[in-house]
Amino acid sequence: MAQAYKMYINGQWIESGSGETFTKINPATLETIGEFQKGREMDVEAAVNAAEDSFKSWSETPAPKRGEILFKIGQLLQQNKEELAKVITQEMGKVLVEARGDVQEAIDMTFLMAGEGRRLFGKTTPSELKDKFAMAVRRPLGIVGLITPWNFPIAIPAWKIMPALICGNTIVFKPSSDTPLCAIKFVEILEKAGIPKGVVNLVTGPGEVIGLHTARHKKIRAISFTGHRDTGLEILRAGGVKRTSLELGGKNPIIVMDDADLSLAVDGVIWGGYGTTGQRCTAASRVIVHENIKNEFEKMLIERIKKLRIGDGLDPSTDMGPLVNKAAQEKSKTYSDLGLKEGAKLLIGGKAPNMKGFFFEPTLFTNCNIDMRIAKEEIFGPIVSLISAKNLKEAIEIANSVEYGLSSSIYTKNISNAFKAIEKLEAGLTYINASTIGAEVHLPFGGIKHSGTTREGGWTAIEEFSELKTVYFDYSGKLQKAQIDVD
Ligand code: NDP
Repeated sequence: MAQAYKMYINGQWIESGSGETFTKINPATLETIGEFQKGREMDVEAAVNAAEDSFKSWSETPAPKRGEILFKIGQLLQQNKEELAKVITQEMGKVLVEARGDVQEAIDMTFLMAGEGRRLFGKTTPSELKDKFAMAVRRPLGIVGLITPWNFPIAIPAWKIMPALICGNTIVFKPSSDTPLCAIKFVEILEKAGIPKGVVNLVTGPGEVIGLHTARHKKIRAISFTGHRDTGLEILRAGGVKRTSLELGGKNPIIVMDDADLSLAVDGVIWGGYGTTGQRCTAASRVIVHENIKNEFEKMLIERIKKLRIGDGLDPSTDMGPLVNKAAQEKSKTYSDLGLKEGAKLLIGGKAPNMKGFFFEPTLFTNCNIDMRIAKEEIFGPIVSLISAKNLKEAIEIANSVEYGLSSSIYTKNISNAFKAIEKLEAGLTYINASTIGAEVHLPFGGIKHSGTTREGGWTAIEEFSELKTVYFDYSGKLQKAQIDVD
């Protein structure tokens, strides 16, 4: 009998009012991980009520004191890093080294935000009038709804929960139904560190029910969402005028120029294209290669792809784990077949290997063009499309031809090429001589075009989760009129 897990509302682990549960399986072994609460609207209501009741005392707790609790959370995450990493691998499939990185990202974000408790800078500026003081100070938003995906099941919740907490907000947290156990383990750590009851509330269950209800809820002041573009659009429509931050998908290009260090570029494509089995929003799913080196680069890539070992992420010899679920495996197959139909040339992969679990072979297509769906739509699987370009100008045009604009990269030894790429690539992130992945927590993260609406991380995370209140303090003792008393 699988272990049954509960949701965390108002400081208590409880069952859903629906009385229903759902099952989550390990995508590598197909073994059952557990039974989880299938939350309904009534559970979101309970979570909102708890968040509302706890808001006054949490928002009035001095930010440095809130920071002390975050510091404790960071320490507990460090102590539990290995256990959390194993849960990630078992629940969504990424290899253990990457799962450790996922937890480390959460640790880094937690410590960064703990320190923010002693900053949370506003601004002061001179007033245009005498004996008047002008400033802008940060205030919490209120109750925030955080809706997260499965591909970074500890890191992404931390990117949202920690800045939301340090700014004094209370939280309704709705994790992906593919990684409920990671969310539970994470919230257990928050509880252990002393987060007061009602400040963080975890509701598990179907996104189209509880995610949507959270997005619509009148008492929730802001939604921070990471996930698929179409879900993001639905949330935006449902949320109306509430502040909504969307981190969406990508079709991220690596440009490889003919002056590049090719073996370094191969490393970048392998890591960016097949790391996390291609299931990163910043995955390098397009390679735009200079025509002079196309054949040589293809050969080098094929050699490396042949050596990638597919298997259970808990096995230290595995390079690439399974896809997250059966639907994702089928999606990769559908796109792979589509690539062939569209006239792309399959160099390697293109099918599920004959093994238990939701695996898919690392796949490389060449002779792609910008009109092919495999080369412009987000697949979220281990499929890379190679497109050739005759010069940098054309490479950048190809890179910018998609609807997305999250990450981008160029491999070149030419400084002028590098700076042109920085200037012209339409993306929230540009890497020079590095792959499209590898965000650090203290820098802004996010995309343009259909990849999102805001930036998370660093100082921009504080902007996401706080309001600025502008304060004018007039100590002249008389009526002063801005713009009118000009002489
Ligand atoms: P989904 O959009 O399917 O799900 C994300 C979250 O939204 C889940 O918690 C899901 O719940 C919930 N949800 C689903 N439907 C609704 C709805 N109608 N209303 C409200 N909430 C809903 O994305 P995935 O989890 O599959 O994640 C993969 C996607 O995330 C990719 O497109 C990827 O590019 C993107 N992503 C973007 C990142 C970025 O920072 N830009 C980073 C990481 C991923 P449930 O699981 O119950 O369906």
